[in-house]
Amino acid sequence: MSKIANSFQEAQQAFLILKQQSNRDRTTFLEEIANQIELLKEELIPMAAKESNLPEGRITGELGRTVGQIRLFAGLVKEGSWVEAVIDHEDSERKPVPKPDIRRMLRPLGPVVVFGASNFPLAFSTAGGDTISALASGCPVLYKAHPAHPETSRMVAKAIQTAVGICQMPEGTFQHIEGGIDTGQELAAHPLAKAVAFTGSFKGGKALFDTCNKREIPIPVYAEMGSVNPIFVLEAYLSENLESAATAYANSLVLGVGQFCTNPGLIFVPKSHEAAFSSQVISQLKTVAGAPMLHEGICKTYHEALKNLAISEKLEWLLTTEANQLLIGNPSLAKVKASDWLNEEAFQEEVFGPFAIMVVYDSIAELEEVAVQLKGQLTCTVWGTSTELSGNKTFLNLLEERCGRLLFKGVPTGVEVGHAMQHGGPYPSTTDSRSTSVGSFAIKRFARPIAYQDTPEVLLLEELKDENPLQILRKVDGEYLR
Ligand code: NAP
Repeated sequence: MSKIANSFQEAQQAFLILKQQSNRDRTTFLEEIANQIELLKEELIPMAAKESNLPEGRITGELGRTVGQIRLFAGLVKEGSWVEAVIDHEDSERKPVPKPDIRRMLRPLGPVVVFGASNFPLAFSTAGGDTISALASGCPVLYKAHPAHPETSRMVAKAIQTAVGICQMPEGTFQHIEGGIDTGQELAAHPLAKAVAFTGSFKGGKALFDTCNKREIPIPVYAEMGSVNPIFVLEAYLSENLESAATAYANSLVLGVGQFCTNPGLIFVPKSHEAAFSSQVISQLKTVAGAPMLHEGICKTYHEALKNLAISEKLEWLLTTEANQLLIGNPSLAKVKASDWLNEEAFQEEVFGPFAIMVVYDSIAELEEVAVQLKGQLTCTVWGTSTELSGNKTFLNLLEERCGRLLFKGVPTGVEVGHAMQHGGPYPSTTDSRSTSVGSFAIKRFARPIAYQDTPEVLLLEELKDENPLQILRKVDGEYLR
């Protein structure tokens, strides 16, 4: 039996135990993972910073976010209502046929394969949102380590294994698997895998999606891939807020050397204010010192993407950068007319790094055309005065079709981890726009509803017992009750 087949056997055995555990067991386990990661802080922060080239301050923040989201899921599991319990009591008197007793709730799927991201060595990696939401739902995880931060990944994996030991969870609850593309493909194709979660490139995510759809039994793939996160700036708003809008935009574009999935790589500005706005943005970008990117491969890809775009005669370059320093990603900015943008698909592609295309538009009608043609995005942002927003509902209505999160203030970078967050938009930003990879709804990806009909009381799970021992919110005979 191959090593991976063996890992799946262990994961499956673990699953049969995990799915019978109480909310209390699972909560304690998640809390212990958070504690173990915090205990590692002193060694983990410098290691993640070294392997990712990200500053220690950023990694410190990311560690806080990572343990914060683990505790969010611990709280979610402890509270228990996420399982969407619904009870329809029987009615033996109903005519012409008696009504059966049906009780439905979400149950864990089984072993889940998680691919971590290079740009978040902690929060979207080994103990990141995908792993933790799968564990929270009761699924064992086979984690494919990202080669960009191997030691960080091993350290976090060890922390999870320690938590497994302390909480006496079954051995196959979490497994850390190292290898390349072949390993990733074998994991996704294995018959015991029940779902895949991924964050990374469109190419990688799409390849895994295709593999999983070609399986004898296809499985869901929750891949979070590329996005250019357009910001649409309306005229009156820009005339009132030119300076602050330029500063906010420039800061967001260069945050983390532009290596965020929510990086705003497209900005639409009205022709009337384009010159003043672009000159402000350029002067802000010129003050940004070039910083190292995650790894040489990502930096090389950044410069190659800029070189490919430079072939286009439609783009006017406002700020250029040279690929003369290994690892360093300097900001870069190009300009195009909206009518030209509409005719060139390449202007919609994600360039991973601090690069943006400024699209100059003539009218709202042109923006409506853009909204129709725009590919699926994680986020879309509209900066407008309240009069402009309420007067352009057709545009907003079209734009809503294209994104998972619609912002009317601030910038898309900085994804709040909470109950209402939606981090996942229409294809190709993700492979399943009905799901999120950030926030508590992420747990639902790894569960499926089961209806239990006329089940004897002794067999009912606590969530479905009449006395509601967990005091969770349930829909009972059509009414929400706790
Ligand atoms: P990636 O190349 O997609 O790799 C992510 C993970 O998936 C790695 O573990 C990789 O394994 C695996 N993988 C890639 N292709 C695969 C395939 N065909 N079959 C099975 N497994 C596969 O992403 P990355 O290394 O993090 O960054 C590369 C590019 O992805 C960036 O330049 C950027 O464009 C994009 N990116 C996007 C986001 C986002 O949030 N949307 C985040 C990070 C990066 P191996 O590395 O071992 O081959």
